[in-house]
Amino acid sequence: MPPLNSHNSRQSEGTSSQQGPGVFSNLDATCFPAFDRGQVWLVGAGPGAPGLLTLLGYYALQKAEVVIHDALVNKEIISWANNRAEVIFAGKRGGKPSPRQEDISSRLIELAKQGLRVLRLKGGDPFVFGRGGEECQKLADAGIPFRIVPGISTGIGGLAYAGIPVTHREINHSVLFLTGHEADGRMPHSVDWRAVALASPVIVLYMALKNLPVIIDRLLAHGRNPNEKLVIISNATLQDQQVYEMTLETTPNVLEKLQIATPAIIVIGKVVGFRNSLDWYVNMMRENKIG
Ligand code: SAH
Repeated sequence: MPPLNSHNSRQSEGTSSQQGPGVFSNLDATCFPAFDRGQVWLVGAGPGAPGLLTLLGYYALQKAEVVIHDALVNKEIISWANNRAEVIFAGKRGGKPSPRQEDISSRLIELAKQGLRVLRLKGGDPFVFGRGGEECQKLADAGIPFRIVPGISTGIGGLAYAGIPVTHREINHSVLFLTGHEADGRMPHSVDWRAVALASPVIVLYMALKNLPVIIDRLLAHGRNPNEKLVIISNATLQDQQVYEMTLETTPNVLEKLQIATPAIIVIGKVVGFRNSLDWYVNMMRENKIG
């Protein structure tokens, strides 16, 4: 069982003052809900750019005594944790498997029972393909009080940074969010591909880079147009964001030729065309690492 790695991040960076570099003034705690001892707050860190963290999320980082975060959470956001907070990494590291979900949940319960203020920090929104629901069920079963702080999900905010509105009146009245990946890396088994192909003009795929050629095969087999546009956004909202445009038909070939960096979010549908006029995250717009 891989350990949950722990370190005191701010001490290890040699920062002694709470208002260290990159830390803003403390928020007025009287305006915020109390982060009581023994509570777990499940916070969404947003898609990547640190500035996309919510105010409640930032407040929780200042109050938390323990922060347990996933691999996709931006380091800058983690550096905003209280300088006395213990920071625990609960993601995949150096090719080693991720800690088991049960171990993370047990750790959250154990820390809360010690009377600590526990912050569980997840990429994007904790309830969107993030197993936040499972973790909360375990907390609820154990009688641990918790709060959810939603975050901006990559399937919405990441698209915005590529100039793609996830809905547009002229194009779609619905969106379909899909994961391309089971916990074990295989294709999601319970998906009705015909229903998916017909359901919505816009499909947003999380965790789908590896299985993308198979997913496209299924969509084409159920009637999606091979010339339909597909965009892959890697490192969405970050300064090294890259956007690749292709069609369903050309995607397998493009994937073979390019080494597209992960994480990557994928969008299929006509909304992608708005990039032509709405692609705003370029040049000077990228100069500030906060967002
Ligand atoms: N809860 C998260 C999703 C977790 S699943 C959310 O709401 O966004 C992890 C997947 O999210 C990745 O495989 C990738 O598809 C997507 N993702 C997360 N961060 C991303 C980023 N900065 N750029 C592109 N895709 C990202």
